[in-house]
Amino acid sequence: MKFYSTNNRNHKVELRQAVIQGLAPDNGLYMPETIPQFSQSFIKSLPQRTFHEIGFEVAKAFLSAKVPDQEIERIVTHTLQFDAPVVEVAPDVAALELFHGPTLAFKDFGARFLAGLLGYYARQQDREITILVATSGDTGSAVANAFLNVPGTRVVVLYPKGKVSVAQEKQFTTLGGNITALEVAGTFDDCQRLVKQAFLEAELKQKFFLTSANSINIARLIPQSFYYFRAYAQLNHNKPVVVSVPSGNFGNLTAGLLAKKMGLPINHFIAATNVNDIVPSYLKTGVFSPKPSVQTISNAMDVGNPSNFARLLDLFNNEYKELRESISGYAFSDAETRTAMQQVYSKSTYITDPHGAVGYLGLVQFLKANPAYTGVFLETAHPAKFVDVVEDVVPVEVELPERLQKFMSGEKQSVLIPTGFDAFKELLPTLLT
Ligand SMILES: *Cc1c(COP(=O)(O)O)cnc(C)c1O
Repeated sequence: MKFYSTNNRNHKVELRQAVIQGLAPDNGLYMPETIPQFSQSFIKSLPQRTFHEIGFEVAKAFLSAKVPDQEIERIVTHTLQFDAPVVEVAPDVAALELFHGPTLAFKDFGARFLAGLLGYYARQQDREITILVATSGDTGSAVANAFLNVPGTRVVVLYPKGKVSVAQEKQFTTLGGNITALEVAGTFDDCQRLVKQAFLEAELKQKFFLTSANSINIARLIPQSFYYFRAYAQLNHNKPVVVSVPSGNFGNLTAGLLAKKMGLPINHFIAATNVNDIVPSYLKTGVFSPKPSVQTISNAMDVGNPSNFARLLDLFNNEYKELRESISGYAFSDAETRTAMQQVYSKSTYITDPHGAVGYLGLVQFLKANPAYTGVFLETAHPAKFVDVVEDVVPVEVELPERLQKFMSGEKQSVLIPTGFDAFKELLPTLLT
């Protein structure tokens, strides 16, 4: 199977190139040239299958011609070290918990699959691959933990000094091994500029086989479809199914739509956002108008120009009408989100994080108008990740999961660097040899 650019369906590359490049040269996003189809009997067998089996079958459908089965097994095993349970919160309202990975958010699935695949490419070419990643917090921790101890890979995380939370910083500065953290005496934008500039230096890029672990990478999208299958396997199928996806860059929703196109019988999707409502407003008006993002309590969704929008359009062949029939969009304020967290807790003692709460709100609003459905909202992060917001509205202390506590007791190791490119360029070879 080849992968084409959303900007030009005639520009096709092999999986390896799509994964190593991340973005197409014309700035389009890569999409699979055909979407694998799963049979009715496979769908019916889902409740009897393990998460690993499901992941393996879905991954094989995209990778099999290019990656040996044994390697796909290994990559899926590395990815699915934890489950994605469905937990009922109210009648016909369930949470799909995607936070059981090492960094307590769904991004662990995509980052771990990408790490497994890049590890395979590194071994195959017998050359180390270096992943450069700029982070404002969460991406760095998911990527660093995913690549930790993956042979043939090294990760350099650049983060702005004093601008990430202590818990976030601990998750990528205490690992050691093949993970190096650079603390930049500047802003996130400085970190991003340093990474971009490094990629523009052909010699440097070539010498260290630099690549990025950007969230638009097709290898991060494919594994995100696994858990829609896993969710479906855990549901009662007497009613049509709706899934509500709290969204920022819309990778998660795109993966759900992909699963549906593969044959998974999800009847409807909900695009739920905070006040950064670009997509809900597009669904209402047919006009896509990006704008600067606004800060909210569900900050991983503070996105003013959703990067996967091109993929959404592509999945519907740019047919606005079809897109609108398949997806409902709703946006919610921080006040509404807080109230929802309170209400869910007081009704069921379930604790949502602010992102999951936005998904919950979207689902409840949809079910009011469509009571025949049964629904799931994605709980994309563990509430302990947003403990300040959560403990403000819920009358209990949120327990810190053991894996987060373990990070907190580790010792921070990072190298402080200035914002100029020359110092970074000089330092890089000393870190990587
Ligand atoms: C990244 C993130 C989101 C948004 O996901 P997209 O795929 O960008 O729409 C939602 N919730 C949490 C906790 C996240 O980290």
